[in-house]
Amino acid sequence: MNNKAMFKLTYGLFVLSCFSKGKHNGCIINTAAQVTSSPNRISIAVNKANLTHDIIMETGLFNVSVISEDAQFRLFERFGFQSGRDVDKFEGMVGFEKASNGINYVTKGTNAYISAKVETTVDLGTHTMFIAEVTDMEVLSDVPSVTYNYYQENIKPKPQAKPVTAEEKGKTVWRCTVCGYEYDGDPIPEDFICPLCKHPASDFEKVIK
Ligand code: FE
Repeated sequence: MNNKAMFKLTYGLFVLSCFSKGKHNGCIINTAAQVTSSPNRISIAVNKANLTHDIIMETGLFNVSVISEDAQFRLFERFGFQSGRDVDKFEGMVGFEKASNGINYVTKGTNAYISAKVETTVDLGTHTMFIAEVTDMEVLSDVPSVTYNYYQENIKPKPQAKPVTAEEKGKTVWRCTVCGYEYDGDPIPEDFICPLCKHPASDFEKVIK
């Protein structure tokens, strides 16, 4: 069995946003998909460690903003590499509006948004899958949607750009393939979670500098 077969699946990237008790929050997901067209339903799967997960569990409401190829890396940093438990992810942000459901959606670096109301939840262990009916949606631009591959190739800064110091040369580290964080040591503990993007050790690759 070749686990790399999973890399052949295509994924979009999305800002998943929600609102509860005066607080707007959001995170990056790659798991939004239309599952039925009549009625129009989408599914999302969200890591239980995310604050966004808890808020959607509580309110049953969310928006999915579809990220487009003109998105800047800082959009991914803002929503993907910090926790809403520590910061207000919308603070100081330019480029968002409030949808008819009262939840923010992103207008810059996105080409559409979809508002949805949860009908069914499925407990998947680490994640919950939410199946939700679409309540509103708009197209925001004609720029193509980002794929995970496009993000890796064109938006994420290349780690090679960081010069390797003489001290680091030959050193083994484990690099997060999602955000570029480097774990200093070898092997990486199996239960290691990236402190920046919260992805597990299985998303790290061994790098010899
Ligand atoms: Fe990471």
